[in-house]
Amino acid sequence: MHEEMRTFGYLCPKCGKTVMAARSIFALAASNAVVECDCGESRLHVAFDGEKYLITVPCGICGGEHTAVCPPERILQGATALGCSETKQFCCFIGDEGTVEKHLRELAIVAEKEKQQQDEGEEAFVDNVIMYEVLSELKDIASRPHGITCSCGSDAYGMEIRRSAVDLICRTCGAKLRIPAATDRDLDDLCCHLKLVIPGKA
Ligand SMILES: [Zn+2]
Ligand SMILES: [Zn+2]
Ligand SMILES: [Zn+2]
Repeated sequence: MHEEMRTFGYLCPKCGKTVMAARSIFALAASNAVVECDCGESRLHVAFDGEKYLITVPCGICGGEHTAVCPPERILQGATALGCSETKQFCCFIGDEGTVEKHLRELAIVAEKEKQQQDEGEEAFVDNVIMYEVLSELKDIASRPHGITCSCGSDAYGMEIRRSAVDLICRTCGAKLRIPAATDRDLDDLCCHLKLVIPGKA
């Protein structure tokens, strides 16, 4: 007999693994459900009071725990995600297996990147050497007459340096040109330019 299933997924804050399990809609209405990580250190709780579902989920992003009260249609139909109140990112997915799996995999990648960043003591740039070279190249371009302009006609611009790119922002119209600064290729691309034009309103 085919029973309709709902998959719950979250990221274990203790061991960092993705946790996924399916429960039948019948079981979800009849009793409380628990989805536990293989490591045994975290568990997601689903409780139904006859009207609403109360979901408690361990958060793989902030390390805390979040609770959400959801009407049955949100839990039993379609796909939904619960957010982390600390980071405003999604930390729990509920829906069909394929959708939950896909989102959970993305979440694991984001969390892994953030963790790496913390381990490396918030490394400022993806590649320090490339960023340095890109900035000095930008300085060269800027030193040429009208080296950096905006298509709105302005030549007043600001610069915002990010982890893997530099943004040139027109001070007149606010248009932005992103210069990637993470790989050798990014540097080569930039070196082809004698001038840069921010794509503003012409
Ligand atoms: Zn775990
Ligand atoms: Zn959280
Ligand atoms: Zn402009």
